[in-house]
Amino acid sequence: MKDQNMLLDTLIESEELLNGFTHEEIGDDHLYTGLDTPMKPDAFTISNQVKKERIAELFAQIMDVMGLDLDDDSLKGTPQRVAKMYIDEIFSGLDPLNKPKVALFDNKYQYNQMLVEKDITFYSNCEHHFVPIIGKAHVAYISSGKVIGLSKLNRIVQYFAKRPQVQERLTNQIANELQTALNTRDVAVIIDAKHLCVSSRGIKDNTSATVTSFYGGVFNSPEKIAELQNYINH
Ligand SMILES: [Zn+2]
Repeated sequence: MKDQNMLLDTLIESEELLNGFTHEEIGDDHLYTGLDTPMKPDAFTISNQVKKERIAELFAQIMDVMGLDLDDDSLKGTPQRVAKMYIDEIFSGLDPLNKPKVALFDNKYQYNQMLVEKDITFYSNCEHHFVPIIGKAHVAYISSGKVIGLSKLNRIVQYFAKRPQVQERLTNQIANELQTALNTRDVAVIIDAKHLCVSSRGIKDNTSATVTSFYGGVFNSPEKIAELQNYINH
């Protein structure tokens, strides 16, 4: 037991400091380390089928360690269900093959004001606790000559939401993708979300919500932000 504690101390001491804090000290305070989802270079060398098989095996082990009876009819299929859900549904946005293909159209109506797609409901998952983040995204852009199908704005939000996420990164990934797809800096993204790791556990705050925003190009002015807020609150 003493040896184990010493080993743990050594691990904590040698742990890389993040902004001067250890993982222990950061605890529940969420931390955002960059625009790209941290992925291993070999993330896609094994097939989705193999990933599902391995996740099912490992999830069965977690359930077993917790003392759950995997022979029970109700629990028997859970490891396979979780594995399928992870790969095909709630974390399908990790796979670049699932990225929505964006077709652009000529801006025939010469509409050159802001276009706002508001109240896009999304479900994501916090990468620090693997419990849901539920929220609404509002996205806006000003055409640089091309326009995008409205449903694609929604699909881009859903694609990046279907990853283990932190809200700041989700906001910036959507904005970055829209700027690239639409070939303009003039993009805004606002996300208003509830984190179940805050409401259902930890500090157990049921009423707070987290708002993050990205204002690119001409959106980065008090007048444009006020105009956008006006559309969203209407
Ligand atoms: Zn969390």
